[in-house]
Amino acid sequence: MGRVAYVNGRYVPHDHAQVHIEDRGYQFADGVYEVVPVVDGVLVDEEPHLDRLGYSLGELRIAWPVRRQVLRLILREMMARNGLERGIIYFQVTRGVAPRDHKFPAKAKSSLVITTKRLKPPSAAILENGVAVSSQPDIRWERCDIKSLSLLPNILAKQAAHEAGAFEAWLVDEAGAVTEGSSTNAWIVTHSGEIVTYPKGQGILGGITRQSLLQLAATRNLRLVERSFTLDEAKAAAEAFLTSSSAFVLPVTRIDGEVVGGGKPGPVTRQLREIYVANVDAQIRAAK
Ligand code: PMP
Repeated sequence: MGRVAYVNGRYVPHDHAQVHIEDRGYQFADGVYEVVPVVDGVLVDEEPHLDRLGYSLGELRIAWPVRRQVLRLILREMMARNGLERGIIYFQVTRGVAPRDHKFPAKAKSSLVITTKRLKPPSAAILENGVAVSSQPDIRWERCDIKSLSLLPNILAKQAAHEAGAFEAWLVDEAGAVTEGSSTNAWIVTHSGEIVTYPKGQGILGGITRQSLLQLAATRNLRLVERSFTLDEAKAAAEAFLTSSSAFVLPVTRIDGEVVGGGKPGPVTRQLREIYVANVDAQIRAAK
């Protein structure tokens, strides 16, 4: 079965999917997106992702391209047409097609594009050894809470991290705080057992994995603190990890080449990954 993309109401072969050259997403990155994990053919945390899409659209005053319930149906149709069992579904909404002009167009209808991608779970070696991160300056704008298509600073940071041999970039703001990763949220576990991540607000993207993990951990008497932490604090932490829709919970065992937590994933990180995966399994059981 060939890959199928969805473009403004049509299901088309992925290789031939096109948008107009004056789509404002193409010319201005004037749009937003979502990435929802799919496991065993089930959308994980679908409703929080749709809530976040609504938030991003609202902040930019872009109209929903179709009603929420219709989008839910299209996502399912896309999974079926692509035979997607495990991976991600990507959808982006732009302000639409209009003659290039910075001001909002009076008439444009928002565009919706959807693609799917198969992904394997992280390898046993990655889970056993953790990943490396490289610190990079956080040069983004002041509305990182909007899941905007405009990702140049994130791309530059990820590329710099890749060239430094790391899996992810950890972004450090002017005050010296680690805000988040280029496409993941950043966490540490202190020697006193506190689980720390940067506070939700305009400084980071409120990750859905982050939000789920905070909710799940709160019911298990784990000590969670939303506060900023520095790069030095992270390097000296008992454990470090990152979260995202495609990575779930991944141990971080090296920061800028320095070993964290003895170079092996720690017990809290392992426990949090298990809690998160158990929650995904519960969603799959509930959906079937
Ligand atoms: N921060 C940034 C900047 C991201 O791009 C992402 C992934 N979209 C995340 C955090 C993680 O968010 P989520 O858990 O919703 O995938």
